[in-house]
Amino acid sequence: MPYAYDDQNIFARILRGEIPNKTVLETEHSLAFHDIGPQAPCHVLVIPKGAYVSYDHFTAEASDAEILDFSRAVGEVCRMMEVSPAGGGKGYRLISNTGAHGHQEVPHLHVHVLGGRSLGRMLEALD
Ligand code: AMP
Repeated sequence: MPYAYDDQNIFARILRGEIPNKTVLETEHSLAFHDIGPQAPCHVLVIPKGAYVSYDHFTAEASDAEILDFSRAVGEVCRMMEVSPAGGGKGYRLISNTGAHGHQEVPHLHVHVLGGRSLGRMLEALD
């Protein structure tokens, strides 16, 4: 099944400059900005500028340059936000929600960079 991308999604609109964002980092192929509803003191979203719906879409169809740029941008945000233990931070979590089971709200690939507080266990325990 081909990957379907909705170019009216909110991150596509941010990339087109139609709605504002609080930019943390911009590179040739990636953009990082503060989440509008932060769930931790550090809550930054990193997105590729290309039209990709998910991580599996991105890695299947993006160029090596886009993938390298995005991967490096995520790491750079961790350093910039001072959550990297290597820089004296207390750590962070990367999350990329995808599809219905992943509870993805915005159908444009994004990685959440969360930190600045203890984030608890990775997943809720099953009943
Ligand atoms: P999800 O697709 O479930 O991984 O989450 C989408 C995230 O996008 C949520 O954490 C929202 O708070 C965030 N979000 C939605 N609209 C905006 C916006 N205009 N600017 C920044 N973050 C947003």
